[in-house]
Amino acid sequence: MASAWFPRPLRLPDAHLPRSLDHEPTCRTCGTSWPCETATEHLSPGRCSCGSVSYWEKHGPRRWHVGPRCYTSTDLLAQAAKEAHEYHQAHPHYPPSHYYPPKPARRRRQKPPYRHTPGGPGDVAPGTWCWVRPGGLHPGWGDIHHLAMLTAPGTDRCEVWVYLDSTVHRVRPSLLILDVSALGIPRDGRGRRRLPDWAGWTVARHLDHRAPQVAQPVTEPAEQQALFADETMPDLRFTRRDL
Ligand SMILES: [Zn+2]
Ligand SMILES: [Zn+2]
Repeated sequence: MASAWFPRPLRLPDAHLPRSLDHEPTCRTCGTSWPCETATEHLSPGRCSCGSVSYWEKHGPRRWHVGPRCYTSTDLLAQAAKEAHEYHQAHPHYPPSHYYPPKPARRRRQKPPYRHTPGGPGDVAPGTWCWVRPGGLHPGWGDIHHLAMLTAPGTDRCEVWVYLDSTVHRVRPSLLILDVSALGIPRDGRGRRRLPDWAGWTVARHLDHRAPQVAQPVTEPAEQQALFADETMPDLRFTRRDL
């Protein structure tokens, strides 16, 4: 019934701290070289990048560096600043809205009456809901994704109607991705959608996918007809071998 009780691991007692961290530190109590027998239980040895021995406390934050200090407080500060900078680069935060330049005047429209749900790759038409990636709009609209309706797809620029303020923009199709929630893909019992690969395509890729199908009709090569119309057929075998 009574569960076994274990005491929390004890930290290194202060009595067995080193007297100083010279090249040969000694224990305060034992007088022997540090770490003494008691201190060894609580320490895990390591090695500093400068080559000298260091000890890390097993159950605590303390560390000991044997030998002269290999860094200054300036080094520590520079290292901390570097880490903070790297973290900031990896996790950027966007400035507040008043940072952005004013939005230029744009014509506004009512919500377009189009309605289109893509059913496969390349199936983009007016009425498709998509997201405008940051950089697709004027900087005044901010550095966030904007929900927009595709009103006129084009290979150079697509016309979109931005849901936020009902303005109309012309955006490069490589900066538009389809809105997954508008694809009409049902959720399973766990509330997840099994998305097809083309759900993450940009509109530019959808248009590229559609383009070869439009250019399907292949005309007969005129060279062949001219070849058979020729009665002499002087170099036919040579020509075939070349082909
Ligand atoms: Zn000791
Ligand atoms: Zn060091």
